[in-house]
Amino acid sequence: MPKQLVDLSDEVLLHIGHFANRDHTIPLPSFGPHWENYPSEIDPGVASDYMALRGTCRRLCRLLVPKNLHARLRNWDDVEVWFTEVPTSVLKGVKRLEINIPRSHAEELIVTKWHTMSALLANLISLEELIIPSIALCRHGNLDSRDTINLKVPATDFLPSLTSLSIQVKCGNCAAALPRLLVPAAPRLRHLRMCTNQTIEEDEDDLHDDGDQSSVKSGEAITAVYTAWKERHPLDKPPIETLYLRLARKEESCASVIEAVSDFPKLRNLHVSAFGLTRSRSNDKIHAINTLGAIIATPSPTGWELKFSNSDISDYYPFEVYPAILQCLPNLTTFDSMFLVEIDQPRPCATYATQETPRSLGASLRRLSANATVVYEDRLRDAMSTIARTMTQAVPSLKNGAFWEATWTEGKRMIWNRWTWEVEKVDGVMKPLVCETPECISREFASNIDGATLSDGYIRLQPMFH
Ligand SMILES: [Zn+2]
Repeated sequence: MPKQLVDLSDEVLLHIGHFANRDHTIPLPSFGPHWENYPSEIDPGVASDYMALRGTCRRLCRLLVPKNLHARLRNWDDVEVWFTEVPTSVLKGVKRLEINIPRSHAEELIVTKWHTMSALLANLISLEELIIPSIALCRHGNLDSRDTINLKVPATDFLPSLTSLSIQVKCGNCAAALPRLLVPAAPRLRHLRMCTNQTIEEDEDDLHDDGDQSSVKSGEAITAVYTAWKERHPLDKPPIETLYLRLARKEESCASVIEAVSDFPKLRNLHVSAFGLTRSRSNDKIHAINTLGAIIATPSPTGWELKFSNSDISDYYPFEVYPAILQCLPNLTTFDSMFLVEIDQPRPCATYATQETPRSLGASLRRLSANATVVYEDRLRDAMSTIARTMTQAVPSLKNGAFWEATWTEGKRMIWNRWTWEVEKVDGVMKPLVCETPECISREFASNIDGATLSDGYIRLQPMFH
């Protein structure tokens, strides 16, 4: 007699339920560094099969409690529905939430909204991932004295299960305010994506050389998050292991950022991105990733001589100085700060046959072109291995990272090659190996305006360094 679903044991039914919910296929965190601009994977539909299975009989309804659910808040009405109509069991089952409520121009109290929002989040006791593209609290640009920067964190840990937080709001002021409001309320937070763009008006004495009145250093924005955490948890270290940072100022020295993040002693993964203004394929102005510095490798009798430069200094200095700065991060495992690597030759251009090229030479032209690229890439990878080795010798905990190369397509479009490296055992010796094939990243993909709008609503304008 064939068995029916209800004949199966509770254990097997729970197993079936686990795979009926597609949440298990999505990593946690589901977001990456700022140059990754994949669409959000938070999708309330992931659990529809699970919930349908749950609705088939009383036994399954009892066994398969609502869990690993996704939710999206798209407007303020959604918030009201979640307060009034959604069952408590469902609230308790939400694992991932995206808040994407556009800013409102209505005369509303942001204090009321903030308390409503934090109260709703407090009801989501299983919430592990929170992504915020827009949160409707912003009053900047309205000549309005009510400011998110003045909001206070409620006196409870209202994000008790949160491990992953991505703040992607466009307003620079709110992007700076939200980590200070949310991180202290999340005692288990391990992965944080934030912008350090901060557009608080400064004293005249603090103005930067370029006359930009609305920037403060990225390191200060990071330190402010740490200070907010310590006010709430004076005895505990922040548990953050992963930091995806978008810097406020491309010309800022990475050293001040690294000094600031050393307040997070459990930090293992550090990705730092800077952005600059450029034009998209359709000639629109976009904010695309920009390098934070260049490592210049020139051949020397002992291998490669390494010099480092970023645009806040006018001179090059020996690269060895840089890894020494990293030594204040004793647990650092992964490091990508978008350093460009350049060797003493440019990437060879592809060679094409012309109408004057004898057909008999076509094959050898192709071979020459391919060989030149192989030689170039072997030398580039060798230089990158030397750089990675210099870093791992200074910071033994470091196990992987990436270097960047700027290159151009046939149509003169700039693209980025991202070369990852990893420490592996070769002939019994641990050493960094650079990948064979880089990841190709277009400017359009690596473009967003997270935290990039000024208080007047305009996008911060910064020319590209490279
Ligand atoms: Zn704002």
